[in-house]
Amino acid sequence: MKAILLDGKKNVEVIEKSVPDLLEGYALIKVMAAGICGTDIEMLYHNPVPSVITPGHEVSGIIEKVNHCKTFKAGDRVFLNCHITCNTCEYCLAGDYIFCEELSVIGFDVDGGMAEYIAVPETILRRLPDDLTFEQGVLITDALGTPYHAVKKAEIKKGEIVCISGTGPLGILCILSAVHFGAIVIAIDIVEERLKMAERFGATYLVNGMSNIKERINEITNGKGVDKVIDCSGSAIAILNDIGILKNRGVMIQVGVCNKITMDLFETLIVKEIEIKGSRNFNDFEIPEMIDLIRNTERIDELISHRFLFSEAEQAFQLAEERKGIKIVLVPELI
Ligand SMILES: [Zn+2]
Ligand SMILES: [Zn+2]
Repeated sequence: MKAILLDGKKNVEVIEKSVPDLLEGYALIKVMAAGICGTDIEMLYHNPVPSVITPGHEVSGIIEKVNHCKTFKAGDRVFLNCHITCNTCEYCLAGDYIFCEELSVIGFDVDGGMAEYIAVPETILRRLPDDLTFEQGVLITDALGTPYHAVKKAEIKKGEIVCISGTGPLGILCILSAVHFGAIVIAIDIVEERLKMAERFGATYLVNGMSNIKERINEITNGKGVDKVIDCSGSAIAILNDIGILKNRGVMIQVGVCNKITMDLFETLIVKEIEIKGSRNFNDFEIPEMIDLIRNTERIDELISHRFLFSEAEQAFQLAEERKGIKIVLVPELI
């Protein structure tokens, strides 16, 4: 079968590999769509390490055959939760697989889905409803999972004013999710093109990050500040601005990756009783809710901005590196 290899020298190769053997309790999946994620770009261009592992952790497909699986059979349409875990610890039982001590992730620790076939334990298979496309299935596990979880942590009530700071792909999916929960969304970004996209996906107010943000927010909220902020920018300056526009007892969810900021805890947190929560991945029990969100979002397919054949993977990765588009997927054939 054909598989993608990131050679550790910033090259994308399409190699021949044997179809994987099936252990007991495993299923062989014919891959129908595999998403390219920021972390794949990181592995290819910015932090390249020679590896023989096939990348790809956003995967959907059709079961080709099974070896003693309990609930899945050949022909079933599935998508994958990329986390292979013990399934017995407190975190696994709560659906929070990323905290499992035995965690291994497809596409990083074991072969992933940028190949014609992938063999995985039945425990990570999730049923793809017939009315969802394979590409929509790819969105659920990571591209939508991370922002959906972040937005859920904000516990949005209908009509609340929620600011999404940073409107790249992560921010756009936060906007979709926040609108789904009834928020009125203010989008902040320094790139006008991204703000236009934010508007298309449901933001009511657009604020250019280079303008006087505080003044604009005061105009919009009659001087009160916003109820919640979800930071997707990961920029230290933006994060401090985000906290500054919260109203008293406002809540901030930090999902954009940032290592260090310096702030006066008394002035910024204590005086206004601000809460800041970190958010990283999704919870397995949120999957049915995300399926509902996909069904109820008219523009969902616009999130899949580009499709490439596996053989065109190099081009696909380059486009993703240039930060063009939203979600770029690899598919076995173009339809
Ligand atoms: Zn990812
Ligand atoms: Zn566990």
